[in-house]
Amino acid sequence: MNEPVIELKDVHVRYKARSSTIFRKQYVDAMDGVSLTVKRGQTLGIVGESGSGKSTSAKVLVGLEKPTSGEIVFAGEAVQKFTRSVRRRLGRILSVVFQDPATALNARMTVRDALLDPMQVHSMGTRAQREAKVRDLIGMVGLPASALDALPGQLSGGQRQRVAIARALVLDPQVIVADEPTSALDVSVRAQILNLLTDLKNELGLGMVFISHDIQTVRYLSDEIAVMNKGRVVEFGDAAQVFDNPTDPYTQTLLGAAPSLLEPANLS
Ligand code: ADP
Ligand code: MG
Repeated sequence: MNEPVIELKDVHVRYKARSSTIFRKQYVDAMDGVSLTVKRGQTLGIVGESGSGKSTSAKVLVGLEKPTSGEIVFAGEAVQKFTRSVRRRLGRILSVVFQDPATALNARMTVRDALLDPMQVHSMGTRAQREAKVRDLIGMVGLPASALDALPGQLSGGQRQRVAIARALVLDPQVIVADEPTSALDVSVRAQILNLLTDLKNELGLGMVFISHDIQTVRYLSDEIAVMNKGRVVEFGDAAQVFDNPTDPYTQTLLGAAPSLLEPANLS
């Protein structure tokens, strides 16, 4: 059950900085030597503040971004060339739920078409099978069948994120990469979406990569946690261990566990 689905080994992604000019090239190391293993049926939490390289890591995992250097081991084999077909295979085994469902869904496509689309792209099943799958999925994410005829703009943020989750499940992935899936939502629906993800993970035996800037959220969902800072994994371990005995000063800061210099005990 816990065998690796995908491993990143010393992966670097270097972007040309947005401030770069032709006279002075500047670079950002969004991933600066990241090694991570995503396992079947397990939740890996990735936590770190904005700009630490979490979304870039998510994109590399699902085949949307190409590493500048480093190795990806996928289905037990090192990926030699990052071809279109490799990226397609990655995208099928690992699918992603982004932060903002409003931008992730095509505003002019009905929910039904948004869910049919990945199956059509991958030529999966008969028309009747695809229709049946769509009806299954909409129920699985807790929406009524009538939602299939809606356009994204007719749904609430929470409902849209449910649709995005259904879309991520269409191709029966082994792993869902959820990149801050509740950050753009009203506080009142965040817990529902987190519960839905947890239920689906358990029911379907999915692996999950759960990304958040909020360490408390990550804590309750994850088996293992990687803390990222400036493109590097600065701490990694079992969730409980990272929480109870963080070794990295940055993790301690995230946890608010760093002893304050102003504590009376430190003055004496
Ligand atoms: P996070 O998701 O943790 O906020 P990101 O992975 O989005 O972090 O970004 C990591 C760093 O890479 C940031 O400094 C960001 O500005 C930079 N970055 C991300 N995408 C690009 C891009 N397409 N071009 C240039 N810089 C980028
Ligand atoms: Mg991000």
